[in-house]
Amino acid sequence: MISLTALADERCGGDDWAFADRGAFKARKDAVAWQSILRAEAVLPGLRDHVEVYEAAAPQTLRAFTGNPRGTIYGFAATPDQSLLAGLAQETPIPNLLLAGAWTFPGCGQATVLRSGNMAAHKILAAGTAPR
Ligand SMILES: Cc1cc2nc3c(=O)[nH]c(=O)nc-3n(C[C@H](O)[C@H](O)[C@H](O)COP(=O)(O)OP(=O)(O)OC[C@H]3O[C@@H](n4cnc5c(N)ncnc54)[C@H](O)[C@@H]3O)c2cc1C
Repeated sequence: MISLTALADERCGGDDWAFADRGAFKARKDAVAWQSILRAEAVLPGLRDHVEVYEAAAPQTLRAFTGNPRGTIYGFAATPDQSLLAGLAQETPIPNLLLAGAWTFPGCGQATVLRSGNMAAHKILAAGTAPR
């Protein structure tokens, strides 16, 4: 299996990809998919002849599956002013509401979000009772 990824500017997400009908959206995704496959032939000659199945996803697809605004895959942009300790803490001002996931400290990525979930769980256990 080969995964070809092109990180898109946020202007490619949201309304810029909100086509009037699903056919136009699928045609755009297919065009981008084949453009990617043909570009990859620069390092994998003849790749197009070996494609049995392909699946394409656009920012709009990711927005639909994750609920993330504009289909962002990593949560907040990883800029110094909103990364690591500047990120959202697990605790909130609302009693029994804790946060975990890519939008919180310590940040995005599969292993990292496990850590924020783990920290939230420890805070619940340290409080002695599960939130209601
Ligand atoms: C295409 C892609 C490739 C990636 N590649 C990598 C990689 O190679 N390595 C890596 O470390 N990270 C990668 N990431 C990032 C990583 O997947 C995320 O940082 C991580 O999954 C975020 O975890 P999360 O729990 O915060 O959110 P998610 O994993 O998005 O989970 C949130 C869940 O909540 C559900 N949800 C949303 N809204 C609602 C609602 N209103 N009600 C009920 N459920 C709801 C969603 O359907 C989803 O199942 C990738 C992400 C994408 C999109």
